Amino acid sequence: ATGWKMNGGLRLACNEERWTEVKRQATTAKSFGLEMPLLTPKEAQHLWPLMEIDDVVGAAFLPTDGQANPSDITMALARGARMHGATICEDTEVLRIEVEAGVIKAVVTVAPDGSEGRIECEKVVVCGGQWTRALCATVGVNVPLVPVEHQYVITEQFTPEVPRNLPTLRDPDRLTYYKEEVGGLVMGGYEPNPIPWAVAGIPRPFQFQLLESDFDHFAPIMELAIGRVPELANTGIRTLINGPESFTPDGNFILGEAPELKNFYVGAGFNAFGIAAGGGAGQALAEWVHDGQPPYDLWVVDIRRFGRPHTDTEWVRTRTLEAYGKHYTMAWPFEEHHSGRPARTSPLYDRLLARGAVFGEKLGWERPNWFASAALGEADHDVYTYERQNWFAAVGREHAACRDAAVLIDQTSFAKFALKGPDALTALDWICSNNVRRPVGSLTYTQMLNDQGGIEADLTVARVADDEFYIVTGTGFASHDFDWIRRNIPSGANAQLFDVTSAYSVLTLMGPASRSILSTVTAADLSNEAFPFGTFQT
Ligand SMILES: Cc1cc2nc3c(=O)[nH]c(=O)nc-3n(C[C@H](O)[C@H](O)[C@H](O)COP(=O)(O)OP(=O)(O)OC[C@H]3O[C@@H](n4cnc5c(N)ncnc54)[C@H](O)[C@@H]3O)c2cc1C
Repeated sequence: ATGWKMNGGLRLACNEERWTEVKRQATTAKSFGLEMPLLTPKEAQHLWPLMEIDDVVGAAFLPTDGQANPSDITMALARGARMHGATICEDTEVLRIEVEAGVIKAVVTVAPDGSEGRIECEKVVVCGGQWTRALCATVGVNVPLVPVEHQYVITEQFTPEVPRNLPTLRDPDRLTYYKEEVGGLVMGGYEPNPIPWAVAGIPRPFQFQLLESDFDHFAPIMELAIGRVPELANTGIRTLINGPESFTPDGNFILGEAPELKNFYVGAGFNAFGIAAGGGAGQALAEWVHDGQPPYDLWVVDIRRFGRPHTDTEWVRTRTLEAYGKHYTMAWPFEEHHSGRPARTSPLYDRLLARGAVFGEKLGWERPNWFASAALGEADHDVYTYERQNWFAAVGREHAACRDAAVLIDQTSFAKFALKGPDALTALDWICSNNVRRPVGSLTYTQMLNDQGGIEADLTVARVADDEFYIVTGTGFASHDFDWIRRNIPSGANAQLFDVTSAYSVLTLMGPASRSILSTVTAADLSNEAFPFGTFQT
């Protein structure tokens, strides 16, 4: 038994833009085969009579949503695992993971009586909650998560009692969520000013413990909630739970095989929805461990989506606190983070900024997204909207310039690798779908495919010497593509892969006038005969 009750879930919209967001969520739900009808405020209130609806524009109802009991779920999963042959060692701490020459050998444990154990294994899966970062760091694996305090109140019983089948309620414009609990309510929220926990490291011992309730910090959330559920003001608070939970810099959890260590898997950083997501995440992770590849596209939660800035715990904490504060804020199209910037810049950053560049950020890199024209009175920042973006005209000008003349783009943030060694050609020829067995000076655009023929990487390969290739790929795929290439170099091949991203800048000159523009700064012959498509020159 898991305590599951399918009482449905309501999501409110209190302004027109949120209403657009909710309607889009309903469309997304439908695409997954889930009915999520849209309701008028009155219809929503009929389902949730405790709430005021003066400010509500509309609501969406997911009838298949519900509530479950976390400890019941845990016990049920443990029982199922035992029935299928798993051994569960309770009160047993993993002290360290033994790795020899990049190969996992064993997990060393300590029992409560102090006796050590050693479990030999080929694969390790770490699902250690907020402890995951420190444990994985001992074997060189980076898991960017930090603990943050998260609170909810449990009220006394309402009079009359809250019906047991009351749907769960999310009220993002008031940063709060609600569910029925023994005739009262649980109400929690995502404060804009979250409090990080255990900045100097998680104290020992610390397990199955809560933190001290912080009523002052919760007061603004309580005030927002009373505006929605006035009866909260007349109902006693049974307790204010404060628990540390692991949160991540982009608000998504972290799954998959670590790029740093073969056969080492992670499932952590659940951002206060680990109970809701646990079933699906667990199943996907189990299949991933079994098959050595994700069962479907899991890029948004893939551990390989992170990169260099995520190795810096302070940067991770800063960005994570921003993501926590945005849990319920509008998820705008093209929204950028503002914290921890600038982290990585190209040598042209200051000049581009002075010329009106509006930057976006990817894996810590500042990238000019578009240029605001002061002459046209354009604001030099993004104005978020579900309607036409404020950069529409500016990007249109860039398109026209590229088609009619040329554009120069700073793409320094691109990830760059060097593959060197006597077997570099054989290795790359095996990994790439296009033919890279071409003369020195060739430039090849190619995919890298997995066993199913699916695309794992999409990049450009330059043959710079008989035994050396220069590989350029997308900024966000730095960790993924490096990992994919390295792990697919045939065993025994003498070819080494290096990340040379910081060593080079990238400027891209595109458009029909490119050759004539470039010829003003070089004496080299840039004619099509001397410098054809698919070649490079140094
Ligand atoms: C106040 C609050 C409210 C929440 N509300 C919700 C909600 O409404 N819905 C929802 O879905 N989620 C909610 N969550 C989040 C949810 O509880 C977590 O996401 C979930 O418990 C995370 O599960 P986990 O297994 O990843 O980590 P954990 O539950 O932290 O488990 C990790 C385990 O690993 C063990 N461990 C760590 N290191 C070692 C080691 N070296 N050796 C052996 N064992 C080790 C720890 O002791 C721990 O038992 C809430 C969290 C908080 C704090």
